[in-house]
Amino acid sequence: MRPISTAELLSVGSELTVGETRDTNAGELARTLTDNGVEVLRMTALPDDLAAVTDAFRVALGRADLIVSTGGLGPTPDDLTRESIAAAIGETPSVDPDLERWLRNLFEHRGLPFPTTNVKQAWRTPSTTPIPNDNGTAPGWWVDAPGERVIVALPGPPREMRPMWTDWALPRLRERDLGRRSVAVTLRTTGLGESMIAERLGALLDRGSNPTVATYARADAVDVRISAVPTDDMDAAALVAAAEAEVRHLVGDHVWGRGDVTWAAAIGERLAARRWRLAVVEIGTRGSVLGLLGEGLGDRVAFAETLSTGHRPPEGGRLDLRRLAEQVRQAGGAEVGLAVRAATRGANMAVSIAIADPRGTHAERRLAFLAGPQGRTRAALLAAAILHARLRA
Ligand code: ATP
Repeated sequence: MRPISTAELLSVGSELTVGETRDTNAGELARTLTDNGVEVLRMTALPDDLAAVTDAFRVALGRADLIVSTGGLGPTPDDLTRESIAAAIGETPSVDPDLERWLRNLFEHRGLPFPTTNVKQAWRTPSTTPIPNDNGTAPGWWVDAPGERVIVALPGPPREMRPMWTDWALPRLRERDLGRRSVAVTLRTTGLGESMIAERLGALLDRGSNPTVATYARADAVDVRISAVPTDDMDAAALVAAAEAEVRHLVGDHVWGRGDVTWAAAIGERLAARRWRLAVVEIGTRGSVLGLLGEGLGDRVAFAETLSTGHRPPEGGRLDLRRLAEQVRQAGGAEVGLAVRAATRGANMAVSIAIADPRGTHAERRLAFLAGPQGRTRAALLAAAILHARLRA
């Protein structure tokens, strides 16, 4: 059997190409295929046009081991996926008596007359195995296409498509040697922009190599993803480990997490390791520090307070952030006190951070790009990064 290591995704329906419906199906399918080590070569949206869809299947069959389509399995004349697949593989559909019985039963149970147009939902070709649909009237198609390639055609509605894919199609694909046994690891970094990271990684980022190293700018980190497929003499994990060592050599001082860890989880781990708890006071951030960390830290947060931008110490004088960190630490009965103040500076946000812990106090000032909500979010990320570094020291 041909192993399935590449796939193409076709999203069929004019509602997609006129922009009425967002194609979420392809993204979901791409995610599970990638998780299963299958490389998705292309994702295409197509109008309800027989020639276009037939052509797309035909071309994809020449490129990929697996083609997964969604949409176009309805009963109306503009639902053309079955016709297109049949044309692409050179077969003629005919009514499957079992399918027709099932379909007629469905209508009977609902007390509805069976519209003759619906009979095409009972079609199949000689190479087709119908995929049961427990949530609609459109059965899917599993097609054993020429060249040991596979077509999986699923209906468009996500709630119909999803279980048919997860419970029916995926297990069968797995039986057929699905995906190269790829291994991947993500290193989460802070303190350098994506382009700086890229500059440091240099040739490691060269496309098409194995292992593959790529950077992704996320809201909370710049991620470096390292993935590999096995070669004749090295397994994928060993290739990834070697590349990870190189990446860490170049940007290791900026790595704060490995895998899909959040700031809250990374900080929570540090606090738990020392059996410490955290008290937080934030000024001018509208609670964004607690928003970033609170949920994930749970009862590691002993105390939290949000003060407005204009906050002044009750005893008068200038606001001393180190002192505030110490005060909040004591007020919360915690080992660590974190005080964060953000104030708009033109288009940006000036951020002051102070941390008090059993080793003393530590304070830093930074500038967060952008003001407003984005600046506040970035202020919280800066505070998280500085707190994490302090806890790691
Ligand atoms: P059915 O007969 O059950 O409607 P179908 O295969 O004919 O199935 P379509 O008519 O193409 O499906 O689409 C039905 C609905 O499914 C669309 O109106 C849309 O809400 C949703 N849908 C279709 N394609 C997608 C997609 N790629 N991503 C997200 N939703 C989709």
